[in-house]
Amino acid sequence: MSLSAIQEQGQQFLALAAEAAACVRCPAMCTRAAVLTSLNGPVDARVMFIGEAPGRKGADRTRVPFSGDQSGRNFDRFLESIGLSRAQIFITSAALCNPRSASGANRRPSSTEIRNCSDFLTRTIDLVQPQVIVTLGTVALEALKLIHYHEFTLKNDAAKVRRWNERLLIPLYHPSPQVLVTSRKEQAQLRDYQVVSKAIKKLSASFTPGF
Ligand code: SF4
Repeated sequence: MSLSAIQEQGQQFLALAAEAAACVRCPAMCTRAAVLTSLNGPVDARVMFIGEAPGRKGADRTRVPFSGDQSGRNFDRFLESIGLSRAQIFITSAALCNPRSASGANRRPSSTEIRNCSDFLTRTIDLVQPQVIVTLGTVALEALKLIHYHEFTLKNDAAKVRRWNERLLIPLYHPSPQVLVTSRKEQAQLRDYQVVSKAIKKLSASFTPGF
C-alpha cells in the first residue's frame, strides 16, 4: 500500500471513529463512549478479532478492547500462546458501547443494539480489509450475519477455518471466565488459537513483515 493510501486509510478511520463517538443510536448506551480509536489496533492489520461489546471493568474503562478485566487477561494469554501481539491485530466488537443492566452489571447487547451498530462494524471491516476475521463468541459470529449472511455456529464451526465475504473466518469461543469454566476450557481454547496461528502462517506470503 502506498504512503498516500495509508494516510487516506488513517483519515477515514479517524472520521469513522469520530462518528462512532458522537453516535446516540442506542438510547441505553448513548452516554457511553464507543470503543473505536487508534487503541483498537493498526488499521492496516491483516487479522481482525471481533468481540461482543466493551466490558464495564474492561474496555469501557481502559478504552483498549479486551484489557483491564479477566476476559482481557485470558485473551492476552491466548494471543501470547501463538506469538501474536496486539500490534499485529485490530480488535473491535459487535456493539461499540458498553451495555449494562439496570443493576449496573454487564449485559448482552440486544439484537436491536447489534443491528444499530452493524453499520460501524461493516465500515470498519471495509476500511481495515483484514484477510482473517476471528469472532470471539456467539454474539460476534451472529453480528456478521447482518453484513453477509452465513449459517456458521460455534457448535459446528468453532476453531474451523471458513470462507466468509471473501475472507477467512475463524469462529472462536469468548475468552470470558464464565466460558472458560462452562463451555470451552483453557486447554481447548489454547488449541483453538493454534488454528488461528496456522491460518495466519498459510497466508504469510501476502502478509506484512512481522507475520
Ligand atoms: S453501540 Fe454502536 S450504534 Fe449503539 S450507540 Fe454505541 S456506537 Fe452507536
